[in-house]
Amino acid sequence: MNQDDKPRRFLLKLSGEAFAGGGGLGVDPDVVHKMAREIAAVVRDGAQIAVVIGGGNFFRGAELQQRGMDRARSDYMGMLGTVMNCLALQDFLEKEGIDSRVQTAITMGQVAEPYIPLRAVRHLEKGRVVIFGAGMGMPYFSTDTTAAQRALEIHAEALLMGKNGVDGVYDSDPARNADAVKYDALDYAEVITRDLKVADSTAITLCRDNQLPILVFELLAEGNIARAVKGEKIGTLVNS
Ligand code: UDP
Repeated sequence: MNQDDKPRRFLLKLSGEAFAGGGGLGVDPDVVHKMAREIAAVVRDGAQIAVVIGGGNFFRGAELQQRGMDRARSDYMGMLGTVMNCLALQDFLEKEGIDSRVQTAITMGQVAEPYIPLRAVRHLEKGRVVIFGAGMGMPYFSTDTTAAQRALEIHAEALLMGKNGVDGVYDSDPARNADAVKYDALDYAEVITRDLKVADSTAITLCRDNQLPILVFELLAEGNIARAVKGEKIGTLVNS
């Protein structure tokens, strides 16, 4: 709880790639279970958590386009992939005893509610995790942009951007450059002018224009979601 005892509300962006574990494709139930356990712990502690999950473990529209497919159609495939991740997370949250609702931007009544922001807020107030699927429902967007937009619409205090295999933002790719330097803090302008790999530019400008802080952190490190929610100094904080 924060000073005025209002529950804290966060939008957690989970990398789709992380869902695949080492496999690269599909869903590794052990990884999803681990994330569900960590989310359950912070919800039990009183935080309100909404989630957006990427779809990189299934399809990325831009990659399919490079292999000859129509961009918009392949983007829809990407969005549908995110929904499978949402259902996997919902399943493991349920096993942890945490109520959740999946809301999708593309209507699919048998498996999820439609995206209704006010209803999403009501779910959060009741202690349910809300998982937003199918991105924005529009081609040419990303789940990073979705995460920023949903965070703003539900009045989350920050966007917690969980990354796969990297513990923050670096001045160059740490996987390729042993001398890469990690930033503890950055402002939006630096991210944009240096083209740092935080999120796509649409997402960054949306956060900048609306003063939404972004914490970039390593998703799979034990206890990191709780650290991010508590505001401990991990990862890289992007704000103004
Ligand atoms: N996508 C889209 N519109 C959206 C969100 C996602 O078209 O609003 C598609 C796009 O093709 C994207 C794919 O879904 O490549 C998977 O999402 P993303 O690449 O953001 O997943 P991540 O890289 O975070 O796992």
